[in-house]
Amino acid sequence: MINMILISPPSAGKGTQSKMLSEKFKIPHISTGSILREEINKKTELGTKIKDTIERGILLDDKTIFEILHSRLMKEDCKNGYVLDGFPRTLKQAKLYDEFLKETKENIKYVFYLSIDKNIAYERLKGRLICSNCQATYNELIEEVKPIVNDVCNECGSNLIKRVDDNYEVFIKRFELFLTEIEPLKNYYKEKGILYEIEGSEKVMDTFSKIVQIINCGDLSD
Ligand code: ADP
Repeated sequence: MINMILISPPSAGKGTQSKMLSEKFKIPHISTGSILREEINKKTELGTKIKDTIERGILLDDKTIFEILHSRLMKEDCKNGYVLDGFPRTLKQAKLYDEFLKETKENIKYVFYLSIDKNIAYERLKGRLICSNCQATYNELIEEVKPIVNDVCNECGSNLIKRVDDNYEVFIKRFELFLTEIEPLKNYYKEKGILYEIEGSEKVMDTFSKIVQIINCGDLSD
């Protein structure tokens, strides 16, 4: 069982790294942002309710997001572990998640914190594209994660689009909001001895190698 969490400001690469980790360790990549965007795309009742919140770049309330995550974590494919991307984002969410881990007798061994300067993150954001169908993420300005064919998803062939919340104003709001929530969350995991800080502004493969090295040095058996 290998559970890990990736935390970072917007556009630091946690989606990209999570996907690569998911493929390497053959565990699902669970992105709360992608789950929510899918609900919006499908125009479900939940999707309609949260659309405005997502587009404005503010956080969903802790209880709602935890319920959504909880039902995802109960699925069969999570039994050997998973990569959590975008959760927890607040101390309250971390505590709700800990209660869940206690109930299921699981644990979390790695919390990777990818740091990035706001200006570099914004430069990256300018090239970010997502698949309108399967939510895969790309960056047309970064060679390593560019789509093979411009504006077409490598995985499912659908059109690539910009996220509605990837504009300058909403990005700044998301970035600032992240910084206000993150310190207590970082301290929480630091005290547990499972927080690993990694520089997120390096090349995709360099960041990935650092994460994998930390995991490979640990014991994956429990
Ligand atoms: P990013 O990390 O690039 O800001 P995400 O795709 O992780 O974007 O999340 C997009 C949006 O989804 C957030 O701005 C927020 O509105 C909502 N969201 C995702 N995860 C959570 C969470 N754990 N708690 C509350 N809201 C969340």
